[in-house]
Amino acid sequence: MGFKVLITPRSFEHIKDKFWGLLKDAEIEVVMNPYGRVIKEDEMVELVRDMDGIIVGIDPITKKVIDNARKLKVISKYGVGVDNIDLEAAKERNIVVTNTPNANSNAVAELTVGLIISVLRNIPLSDRRVREKKWDRFIGYELYGKTLGVIGTGSIGKRVIKLLRGFDLNILCYDKFPDYEWAEKENVKYVDFNELLKRSDIITIHIPLTEETRHLISERELSLMKKTAIIINTSRGGIINEEDLYKFLKEEKIYGAGLDVLEDEPPKNSPLIELNNLVITSHIGAHTQESIENMAFIAVDNLISVLKGKEPKFRVC
Ligand code: NAD
Repeated sequence: MGFKVLITPRSFEHIKDKFWGLLKDAEIEVVMNPYGRVIKEDEMVELVRDMDGIIVGIDPITKKVIDNARKLKVISKYGVGVDNIDLEAAKERNIVVTNTPNANSNAVAELTVGLIISVLRNIPLSDRRVREKKWDRFIGYELYGKTLGVIGTGSIGKRVIKLLRGFDLNILCYDKFPDYEWAEKENVKYVDFNELLKRSDIITIHIPLTEETRHLISERELSLMKKTAIIINTSRGGIINEEDLYKFLKEEKIYGAGLDVLEDEPPKNSPLIELNNLVITSHIGAHTQESIENMAFIAVDNLISVLKGKEPKFRVC
């Protein structure tokens, strides 16, 4: 029996030839994202109506989508964060949800390091000024000897710490489920959330977006930060309250911010993009050749396992 599968991530287009054989051998007919952008809920409802499986990026897989996909057996997330998938609705229908943990951790961690240095040294702003035929010379901050505060010590947070070791930083961590064994081995210290905010010079966020973490960083938390501190978010938009962040950056109550993710992507009328002390990228954390190949390989493997009645390697529910 053949299967029909929708593949939504646009980056999959670049590497799909590598997987054609695998999908064909598993008798899978593939429908690629016809829109070339994130698919909207109503469009998704129509697209998945007769699909057996989906390999999905950040497109909405809501209850409405799931309830209309009567043949759906598997939602294979191409990435880690499953906040765009209604897990309860999937469970109700016995639809298996899988993801690709660790496949993109290094890519996101490297971008995080890039954003940190870009913000501290004003690299994008200096680049813009030179192109405008101006030779402004900005005075930034060094990493050496500073305190790094990592919120979330899962696979990306841990990798960021490893990559930044050579800068001789003091490292503070906060996580709802601390990994004390790792902390002892790596010589890092868990502290409470407020202490991390108060003591850190560089704060970087690596936690999932959930009801509990939505707007975790709002006015109260920003006001605990040092005036010279920066905050980086490569996890999910929505964890930082953007209105509050705008106010703090505009009034220079913190030094700067680096964001790879926004609540609304792409931003429509966000005043944030006018600010010079913000560096912003277009949710490219996982977009490296290496990472998209890793993610695609695991996502295809998870998908085929479920369709063939086997246990997938990485089941979410
Ligand atoms: P992970 O599951 O390995 O780690 C997440 C960590 O967050 C865990 O240690 C967990 O205990 C902690 N945590 C969960 N809820 C918390 C809470 N309420 N308070 C404090 N800590 C909490 O995930 P990861 O692979 O490190 O990825 C982290 C996030 O990065 C993902 O959820 C995803 O949304 C995001 N991400 C972004 C990109 C991108 O393109 N920018 C790519 C991949 C992942």
